[in-house]
Amino acid sequence: MPDRHPEELTTGEATELMRQVADFGRPTPLFVNLFAELRDSDRLGGRCGACEFRTICGGSRSRAYACTGDVLAEEPWCGHQPDSFPYQSDLAQHLHTP
Ligand code: SF4
Repeated sequence: MPDRHPEELTTGEATELMRQVADFGRPTPLFVNLFAELRDSDRLGGRCGACEFRTICGGSRSRAYACTGDVLAEEPWCGHQPDSFPYQSDLAQHLHTP
């Protein structure tokens, strides 16, 4: 980025500066891939990986990482035991209905 007053910029420099401003905050491929991995509930471990609510909950990934060092580990503060929800068939019906 040029270190001159904006009025001194050439058209090309101003265009490049505007492109850099537009790109600022745009997700990088690394960020997009990491987010895709975090949203893939089949990759979750522990109770979250076996949980009937994993596609709609998934637990806190930040807390899992803070407590275990593994961003895909089970949610350490959740008290739910997978398969203990009494309305499993109703839940499955609702989760698989488009
Ligand atoms: S175990 Fe708890 S935190 Fe993990 S997916 Fe199930 S309900 Fe959510």
